[in-house]
Amino acid sequence: TMLKVPVERFMGQIRNMGFEGVAYDQVLNSEDAGLIAAEYGFEPIVDRDTGKDLLPRPDVTPEERAALPPRPPVVTIMGHVDHGKTTLLDYLRKSAVAEGEHGGITQHIGAFSVKLESGKTITFLDTPGHAAFLSMRERGATVTDIVILVVAADDSVMPQTIEAIKHAKAANVPIIVAVNKCDKPDADPERVKLDLARHNVEIEDFGGDVPVVLVSGKTGLGMAEMEETIMAVSEVLDMRAEETGQAEGWVLEASTKKRGRVATVLVRRGTLRVGDILVAGTTWAKVRTLQDHAGNTLESAGPGQPVEVDGWRENPEAGALAIQAADEGRAREAVDYRLEKIERVKAMEDMEVVNEQRRLQKIAREKEVELEREKKFQKKGVKVLPLIIKADVQGSVEAVINQVAALGNDLVQTKIIRGAAGAVSEFDVDHAEAADGYIITFNSTPSPDITNYARKKGVTIISSTIIYRLVDDLKLLLESHLPPII
Ligand code: GDP
Repeated sequence: TMLKVPVERFMGQIRNMGFEGVAYDQVLNSEDAGLIAAEYGFEPIVDRDTGKDLLPRPDVTPEERAALPPRPPVVTIMGHVDHGKTTLLDYLRKSAVAEGEHGGITQHIGAFSVKLESGKTITFLDTPGHAAFLSMRERGATVTDIVILVVAADDSVMPQTIEAIKHAKAANVPIIVAVNKCDKPDADPERVKLDLARHNVEIEDFGGDVPVVLVSGKTGLGMAEMEETIMAVSEVLDMRAEETGQAEGWVLEASTKKRGRVATVLVRRGTLRVGDILVAGTTWAKVRTLQDHAGNTLESAGPGQPVEVDGWRENPEAGALAIQAADEGRAREAVDYRLEKIERVKAMEDMEVVNEQRRLQKIAREKEVELEREKKFQKKGVKVLPLIIKADVQGSVEAVINQVAALGNDLVQTKIIRGAAGAVSEFDVDHAEAADGYIITFNSTPSPDITNYARKKGVTIISSTIIYRLVDDLKLLLESHLPPII
């Protein structure tokens, strides 16, 4: 219908173009649809990028997994502020650098690996706290295999400790408790254990499976034991990954340094090599160099290894999945397509916003018109009868005013413009005429002259010496001014 061609004719033309056996409700493949669109003078826009080649590989079966090489565990340190997360990480990082070939300056790249005497490796994410852990988890990425819950021995369980327990449990990540600051004289690890048990952390001492190690980030007390405990837990977890095939990794952080745009990628699967092409979100990189946190240049990085990758066209977003592309052309194509798609979605959302604004404006306008109409109706609808009250004495005037004030409804109302004792005067008649009103007299019958004058001026005088009569007459008068019933 967009082509503005009747269906029958369209079908005929398609057949003439050499398409056989097409039905009017058939969904054409993109190639055929593109050809037809071109025939009608339209630029075909085809969703060419299926992106299947840039999706993470499906998980392997348990049998296949058992045959894969083991990979280092990835550990995050969490805990309450000032309980020693940074101190512990610094200690671990220093020992890692001291053991490294360079032994030089450490650089913050968001993660580092520690090689143990046994030859095994542990990878620590070194952005302490919950923010990194949570932002990754929000994207459905459980980057961490193990959480080290740091609790200061002199402070015990605090609000952020409880929060960390909650997050680790929600992510189904095993916990190791590191009771820190055990070098301090007022350290009370037993209290920490009891408090943790109270918060449903099932620690080994009480028959659970959560190990507790007593450490000091300051003196290094218990640090070797902590590393051994991490290895023991990771052996139970039995972490394995493919070292071959298309490389995949999490972007941990990105920044711009002197040598260009860099991003730390924690390799998840496969092996990342210099010269590889990586696509992450809407940017890509041709890997120029790979560096570890100690500034060592690497030729490749395997699963569980964090490396700083440079050569990015734009800074990738932390938490994005970086996936190896076949070549530069494919990377460009995928990024262009993703950007285009974002633009398209944005344009659609903008349209929706505009439409919504228009809808609201229309409602507001209609409401205004309605209010205006109501106001007009009210102005026209409520009839006000101006009245001049005259009576023999002031007391009578007040009595009449009280009676009259009680009369009226939403449609007809009385308005007393003057009330005075005494006989009706010419002035009263003139006033009533000017105001288009009536004169009410009580116990004060107007003289024949005034009656004539009023008749001449078209002013009605309602007179009585009995108050309820007067009220009845007034009611009739009001009723006579009710708008006609439609
Ligand atoms: P974070 O907020 O959890 O990262 O805590 P920090 O690592 O910044 O430590 C907070 C304070 O506790 C600092 O003054 C550290 O020097 C001190 N601290 C950390 N670990 C220890 C420890 O094992 N023993 C002692 N005595 N002090 C420590």
